[in-house]
Amino acid sequence: MLDELAKLEETARRLEPDQKQRAALNRGVEAYANQFLNALPGLKTYVADDLSAATQIPAISDNPASLEEALAYLASAVDKTGINPASGGHIGYIPGGGIYAAALGDYLADVFNRYAGVLFAGPGAVRLEKSLLRWMGSLIGFPEGAAGDLTSGGSMANLTGIVAGREAHEVRAVDIPRTVVYLSAQAHHSIEKALRVAGLGECVLRFLELDECYRIRPDALATAVETDRADALIPWLVVASAGTTDVGAVDPIDALADVCQQQDLWLHVDAAYGGFFVLCDAAKELLGGMSRADSVVMDPHKGLFLPYGSGAVLVRDQAAMHRAFAYQAHYMQDAIQDVAMMSPADLSPELSRPFRGLRLWLPLMIHGLAPFRAALDEKLLLAKYFHQEIQKVPGFEVGPEPQLSVATYRYVPKKGDADQFNKLLIDELQKDGRVFVSSTRVNDRFVLRAAILNFRTHRDTVDLTIEILTDAALRLAG
Ligand SMILES: *Cc1c(COP(=O)(O)O)cnc(C)c1O
Repeated sequence: MLDELAKLEETARRLEPDQKQRAALNRGVEAYANQFLNALPGLKTYVADDLSAATQIPAISDNPASLEEALAYLASAVDKTGINPASGGHIGYIPGGGIYAAALGDYLADVFNRYAGVLFAGPGAVRLEKSLLRWMGSLIGFPEGAAGDLTSGGSMANLTGIVAGREAHEVRAVDIPRTVVYLSAQAHHSIEKALRVAGLGECVLRFLELDECYRIRPDALATAVETDRADALIPWLVVASAGTTDVGAVDPIDALADVCQQQDLWLHVDAAYGGFFVLCDAAKELLGGMSRADSVVMDPHKGLFLPYGSGAVLVRDQAAMHRAFAYQAHYMQDAIQDVAMMSPADLSPELSRPFRGLRLWLPLMIHGLAPFRAALDEKLLLAKYFHQEIQKVPGFEVGPEPQLSVATYRYVPKKGDADQFNKLLIDELQKDGRVFVSSTRVNDRFVLRAAILNFRTHRDTVDLTIEILTDAALRLAG
């Protein structure tokens, strides 16, 4: 047995490289990262992939490959096609971030692997995450006692907020088909997904009338709630967006909160995209109503430029959140303390989880808030700038003045179908690849979007985008 243990140990210990080996591995990874970042300004933002082609992925076997071989595979097959989210030219969908300091936070979090799910196990990590959530709460004007959770993204955060609302309103299974959820047709699809996952798929969905800037009309909400009550339905949830994904519309949250207060409805604000613009003086007032919500979702992997994997949800009523998610397992009896000292696991569907806070905290510490705020202010201004400049190009028409950092526009050809033309225009841009622009349908029209949120997007990118659009439209218009 001892011989066998020694043999196993010898092989198992390969999982623990010594300092010299670690240094060599770090150098290899660092060189790769540097090469990537140095080449980035010249890289395309979009490279088409033959999605159906067979690929050769190195097999997992008992035998190790060298780091060089592994990185070479990444370089040739992973870091090449599709959208390059690290590029400032990514102005499609809602761009993500990827600030370097966040990667260092992840690196350290993974090396020391503190357990961030339970206060007893990782008190320092849990406290740090709680302080980040309190900080976010203070940004939006939530009370000190609000609860929250750092999630993997906005979809999980929406699910968490909606489940907390379901608990608070004690939605009973038998009533679900008579319960009503109010939202905008502009609401992100993760809301409907969350409802379904939360067992609320049978709720009645009321898509409310929007104003000319794609915002919910509060009077439409008030009327709909009254009608539904008169029809013996059970209104309980209103979903507002602080920055819709499509057009960046901010619903009139304050006025919606008035209705929710009068009618005792849970107000969930999906601010996954727009929430952190609350840091900007220019958007503070627009977003002020978030302070009156019951639950709010914000995505640091959008508005704070973190790499993917960072969402957050804040819930005013911590008891509702705790009721929704707390469990006690016998094997964790040593970990259970005062309820006042809730663990992330008591406020989330997750138990074991990465120490997500560090990738957020470290950048905030070593950069300070100023460059984050400046970058967000810059994005607001760049969207206005794009909106102003593109309409100077003959043939282009624009949507409403951007409320945040999304501008919509399209080219109207002298003859032929505009929808078809703009589809071709998108194809041209994708073939070019220097920037990545996406499209959507609003009011049953095919429109193009410039969604400016990547921290590497600056004025030169916007000028380049306008140049590419102008050239491509001219070419297509013949
Ligand atoms: C991006 C987004 C989501 C989804 O968030 P993920 O982090 O992608 O899961 C939800 N709502 C809005 C408004 C968004 O922009």
